[in-house]
Amino acid sequence: MPDSLLSNVVVVLDEPQNLVNIAGVIRSMKNMGLARLRVVNPTEWDTWRITGIAHRSEDVVEATEHFERLEDALADCILVIGTSARPRTAPRNYGWARQWAPQILEGARAGPVALVFGREDRGLSNEALDRCDGVAMIPTDPEYSSLNLAQACLVLAYELFLAADASEGDLPRGKRYTGSATRDEMEQMFQALEGGLARIDFFNARSPESVMRIFRTLLSRAEPERQEAGLVAALGFEIQNYLDRHLPKGGSSDRPGDKPPDGVPGDTEAT
Ligand code: SAH
Repeated sequence: MPDSLLSNVVVVLDEPQNLVNIAGVIRSMKNMGLARLRVVNPTEWDTWRITGIAHRSEDVVEATEHFERLEDALADCILVIGTSARPRTAPRNYGWARQWAPQILEGARAGPVALVFGREDRGLSNEALDRCDGVAMIPTDPEYSSLNLAQACLVLAYELFLAADASEGDLPRGKRYTGSATRDEMEQMFQALEGGLARIDFFNARSPESVMRIFRTLLSRAEPERQEAGLVAALGFEIQNYLDRHLPKGGSSDRPGDKPPDGVPGDTEAT
């Protein structure tokens, strides 16, 4: 591996359908110094055939991690970048692949960063994109924007490979830096916020899904540290706790995020 930052970049294939494409992805990863692959419910997986197409890639193939749910494949990642050929209706943090590259590598200093690729026939679902902090697009002829899965992976990996060279040296961090929030911590934060907002009837005439999507986009763009994500989660929990203390008993308590999970950081200290 030529660069240690690249060793924290995880390629995630969500429900890939074609084994030739999986092999092509692995080949492009090998070309560009990436080694960590996670696959979520591939239609087929055959080590022998894959290594027949992507020669000398046994190390990556054997180390590939298999998942049944995308959320599990992303749980430990501190930055999750989806990929898409075209912008969708919902608000997202869109950016060109080249613009994302330095930020992806900056994230890779702190922990695993996921690059998520969608299935060949319909790309990433809206729910999958909801789990992404941002969405990288490869610029193309607008009339023909959809790249082959393996080719899309190659272009993204190439951008990272080039950018890795340019991003040597550590940026200074504050003494109290708590590290970037993981995807799991981000999801806990969104759940707690949603739970709190629901209790104050914030969603009254609005769709919770669209409102939460805007909060997701906003807070993902902020790239919160663990302590910051914990503080936003605490905001959601405290709304609920306050109402529990001050309103007559009898309300439902099984809404999302009603109880803080163990170890949510940041709810005691705001600085
Ligand atoms: N028909 C699908 C395209 C799927 S292509 C659609 O319209 O969304 C398979 C995957 O390759 C996509 O999910 C995405 O991860 C990646 N991809 C293809 N073209 C891309 C592009 N121009 N920019 C970024 N990713 C792209």
